[in-house]
Amino acid sequence: MYVFETIIALKQHLDQHRKGDQRIGFVPTMGALHEGHLSLLQAAQEQSDIRVCSIFVNPTQFNNPDDLARYPRTLDADLKLLEEAGCDVVFAPSVQEMYISQPLLTLSFGDLETVMEGAFRPGHFNGVGIVVGKLFNIVQPHYAYFGQKDLQQVAVVKRLVRDLSFPVDIVRCPILREPDGLAMSSRNRNLTPDERQQATELYNALTLAQSLLQEDGDLARAKDAVANHFAQKPQFQLEYFEIANADTLQPAEQLQAPGMTALCIAAQLGKVRLIDNLVF
Ligand code: AMP
Repeated sequence: MYVFETIIALKQHLDQHRKGDQRIGFVPTMGALHEGHLSLLQAAQEQSDIRVCSIFVNPTQFNNPDDLARYPRTLDADLKLLEEAGCDVVFAPSVQEMYISQPLLTLSFGDLETVMEGAFRPGHFNGVGIVVGKLFNIVQPHYAYFGQKDLQQVAVVKRLVRDLSFPVDIVRCPILREPDGLAMSSRNRNLTPDERQQATELYNALTLAQSLLQEDGDLARAKDAVANHFAQKPQFQLEYFEIANADTLQPAEQLQAPGMTALCIAAQLGKVRLIDNLVF
């Protein structure tokens, strides 16, 4: 496995593979890797000849400096996991390498960013769009793999690719969960043991809402049930629970076509912000 910290060295290496007509699969991450990340690499394994994973905690997508400071960084362990998982190339640049200067460009994603993560994390998707665009230009992958865990991010990245004609196929991969249902996340490491036990309540709320909706399709009843679920759990600060279209992320007024209803939730538990979703 090759590890590069500079753009030039990575490009030189990948150019050799590109000349040999090899397909490049790319998994962008912020590190503190877990099985969810490795499942993206696994998906890349099936479609691509060369698997590239980036590890970069992108400061421009954090709207909260404490969140950025607390974000777990575990590079040595990450490299070990990636090597074991059969990753070919790792790109782990410094902030200086990625941002010689602060970008002047700002990206706006219209309706896609006025809801949920966009509404609660102002500027977040601008930062995501800029860094993903830069990484696509640096790596020039044929395929790029993103987790459904960040459903709105997938929609934003697909829109970026469409609007700027990036020659890359975006592949959405399913959410990997712990045995008790908690969606795997780098931020889970920051939960206390007690909080870790309670964190499964996000998934419980999602499955409760799903089963109510499957009974009678009543969106208001499902929303009330989730609000009540957390009203009895003051350790959580529920930021939002939305029923939305899985592609547009816009609030739904009724159940969508099969596979297109997205239940999306975000809550603060102690110092950790958790998000999850369920698409059915
Ligand atoms: P992050 O390092 O959190 O920026 O995540 C990097 C990529 O891994 C993103 O595309 C995430 O959506 C994806 N990812 C994070 N957690 C999971 C999970 N539990 N299952 C599948 N993919 C995930």
